[in-house]
Amino acid sequence: MKICPAHIDLPSPVEECIKYVWSIFCYHFEATPSFSHEINSIKINCRQDADIQISQNFVNTICQKKYKQSDVFIDQPIMYCENGKPDYLGSSFYLLNYLQEFNATKEEMDDYGRFSYHSSYQARFDCAHDDLVSSYFEKISQNITAFESKSLPKPSRVFLSHDIDTITASLLHEGKAAVVKKDIALVLKVILKHVLNGPSYRNMDRIMDIHDQYDAKSTFFWLVKKGKYQSPYTEKPIPHSDYRIDNKVIQQIQRRIVDRGFENGLHKSASRTSFNNEINDLAEKVLGNRNHYLFVRMPDHFAAIEKSKILLDFSMGFGRMYGHRNSYARPFIPYSMKNNTNYSFLEVPLQLMDTTFKFYQKRSAKQTEKLILDFMEKHRFNSVISILWHNDMFSPVKNPQWLKLYKSILDYLRQNQLRSITQKELLTERASMLTSFHNSFS
Ligand SMILES: [Zn+2]
Repeated sequence: MKICPAHIDLPSPVEECIKYVWSIFCYHFEATPSFSHEINSIKINCRQDADIQISQNFVNTICQKKYKQSDVFIDQPIMYCENGKPDYLGSSFYLLNYLQEFNATKEEMDDYGRFSYHSSYQARFDCAHDDLVSSYFEKISQNITAFESKSLPKPSRVFLSHDIDTITASLLHEGKAAVVKKDIALVLKVILKHVLNGPSYRNMDRIMDIHDQYDAKSTFFWLVKKGKYQSPYTEKPIPHSDYRIDNKVIQQIQRRIVDRGFENGLHKSASRTSFNNEINDLAEKVLGNRNHYLFVRMPDHFAAIEKSKILLDFSMGFGRMYGHRNSYARPFIPYSMKNNTNYSFLEVPLQLMDTTFKFYQKRSAKQTEKLILDFMEKHRFNSVISILWHNDMFSPVKNPQWLKLYKSILDYLRQNQLRSITQKELLTERASMLTSFHNSFS
């Protein structure tokens, strides 16, 4: 690993922010960050003669804690220095850490009290599908001789997962689907299968079988709360699971998931119960989480994760739009604006979710296939793409087209050698990122 010394001269707390994003930048290029006053180090400051110039816009945004995207970005999702130079490093910090979502007003929220895609810079500049941070990092690296020798692009990896919201509803869902098809034999088959084998949405073994056929691994996120729960952010109660987490059969399935080399995670409820309390209700040990309904409020969500035993979070995606909620196609360790230092968990952003296409955008599986494969094609290298396919989407009776689509995604991944990444590997990456921070700050 090459060592890249930088001399950062900025007012606090901006200096800490830039130190952090410089470390992310170095990690991105497999370099080791370091900080020194030596004459040949890379000068990062607000002056015209800097190697990397930071804008006054960025300094003011951080010092005044005014994060509104419409004030920060004028005509592009980038900040500019006073002499017209783009501030790639400051802009990357802002994008990476979801700052547009901080202090969001009621008008910027959707019906569920979540930061709405429509209020985002991604909607304003139509850039949700672009990995802006990587492209800004590329621009910075082109101006620094230490980064001249480029390593070859590496095939991207995917994180595959399933939120388990529903199990017992399968009789009703599949029965209805069979009735709509006016297929009496199918109606009887659905009922008979349910009586003999239990709910068909208890299909985790089937899901693992499918992944085995494509040499892929995935994670199952479990809800511990059954029924309806109130979120602290909304008036209306939110439906949670229709199964009991202490059910013996469910616990046996979770064990089998581990035995087969797949993984479990927590699907955190919208209730006020803490992460650790919900983790305790799971029979298997978990270190990863995704919030149900992608219910997150920034920065509270990150603060709650940091306080808990969760080391990997998979919650950060938009519900209504696929793509990048923080314009970066890789896992990263976020920054705490309150404590002026990095957090210690790894955020693995979510880019592709079945319900975005099916429910929010009302698209057919056929239309969705093209969109997803185009997106994957655009991110074939140097990315980690997180894909969420709910267990009910594997029903050959209720969602045959969506099951077929998922298999075609797995087929694309195999053909292009895009391997699935496990939580175990992500934990290793978290550890080396933390080491990189630690070395540079000590
Ligand atoms: Zn859910």
